Amino acid sequence: MQSQLRQGWSKAILTEQPTILYIEDNTDNQRLVQRVLGARGYQVRIAPDGVTGLALASEMLPVLILVDINIPGLDGYEVTTRLRSMVHLNMVPIVALTADVSPGARERALVAGCDGYLSKPIEPRRLPELVAEFVGGKRELVSPTVETQVLREYNQKVVEHLEQRVRELMRVNAELQEVDRLKNQFLSSFSHELRTPLTSLVGYINLLSRGTLGDLNEEQQQAIEVLERNCDTLSRQINNLVYLQEYRASQLKLIPLSLRERLLNLAVEAKTKAERSGLTFVLEADDEAQIQADMLAVDLAVINLLDNAVKFTPPGGQVTVTLRNEPTRVILRVEDTGMGIPAEAHEKIFLPFYRVDSSLSGSGQGNGIGLTLVQHIAEAHGGQVNMRSVPGQGSVFTLVLPRHQAE
Ligand code: ADP
Repeated sequence: MQSQLRQGWSKAILTEQPTILYIEDNTDNQRLVQRVLGARGYQVRIAPDGVTGLALASEMLPVLILVDINIPGLDGYEVTTRLRSMVHLNMVPIVALTADVSPGARERALVAGCDGYLSKPIEPRRLPELVAEFVGGKRELVSPTVETQVLREYNQKVVEHLEQRVRELMRVNAELQEVDRLKNQFLSSFSHELRTPLTSLVGYINLLSRGTLGDLNEEQQQAIEVLERNCDTLSRQINNLVYLQEYRASQLKLIPLSLRERLLNLAVEAKTKAERSGLTFVLEADDEAQIQADMLAVDLAVINLLDNAVKFTPPGGQVTVTLRNEPTRVILRVEDTGMGIPAEAHEKIFLPFYRVDSSLSGSGQGNGIGLTLVQHIAEAHGGQVNMRSVPGQGSVFTLVLPRHQAE
């Protein structure tokens, strides 16, 4: 591989314009060097800082690298030391270009790995000649005694720089953690505050829809159904949010559960919703098989799968839910004949906050955390969730959970 790359690079050198990598943040100098060396047939690629310079260098084979010492982030010495560890640049001269003419600056550059040292300001008339000398093989050296002394100082400076950066990172990290904690605290109290009034809304809507508070005419009944649907969407989103903020971080309360029983309970509402949306809802569940699970979490996973199937299937379609028991696991399959999920979204569908582009999915609802929760819940129980989908034909989500060992 390495030799193939080298061959490719040597070919590139023979056939293409020789390239110089120039690591420099000052735009006046960038333009000047580009003009002067461009006029001599070089292609000059610019990196405005050390990290970009390293990334560029790792994928090119220039005839020379010019490095300004005073650049943001990693300084020119550090960049040079890192460049020297890139095997494919072994033979490439690195030349420091700097305004620093203090005693020891040249030695520092050479010890860090440079082959030469040019002082600023850049002299346009001399630069091409100096560059040609290094491209032609010139290498400046430093005496071994000076090298040892400068190397020690250089190492100390690099470690000091590293220490300063680590401190900075630790400080920023602590700040981020605090902001994250405050955000979680806010989301948590906010979702609880939303849940309290919603509970009484749902209660009164139920009383109205069942006729407990008096008979409703057809128009009133329809209005109540709209209220019910919207309250339902709202409470699903709030429950997802509460799980995301609280349960996900806490211990699951595992108890022996019958998934069939939970499913039959939850399917009542899903069936009503499906039929209201003009869908056929089919449910087939094998006899009891116990799982060891957290009831709230499992309910949430099942509700999300059922709701999505209903939500993303146009009228006239079908949602088929099957529960099968196998010797070591139970398999819940939620299949719909809906709009399906485009192939490019398959890999991302379980990522937090991911939603299929609404122009493709035709739906503007949701916040993209439902499936993330389903996956988290499945994995937290030692199970998994899979998805198969064909756009325009429908989707199948399969939730697999281990059976209770003691059975
Ligand atoms: P949300 O809470 O927004 O529905 P989900 O994580 O449950 O988020 O779903 C993410 C996206 O996956 C949805 O926006 C939708 O585009 C797509 N999706 C989920 N289930 C289905 C399905 N059964 N059919 C088609 N698309 C689906």
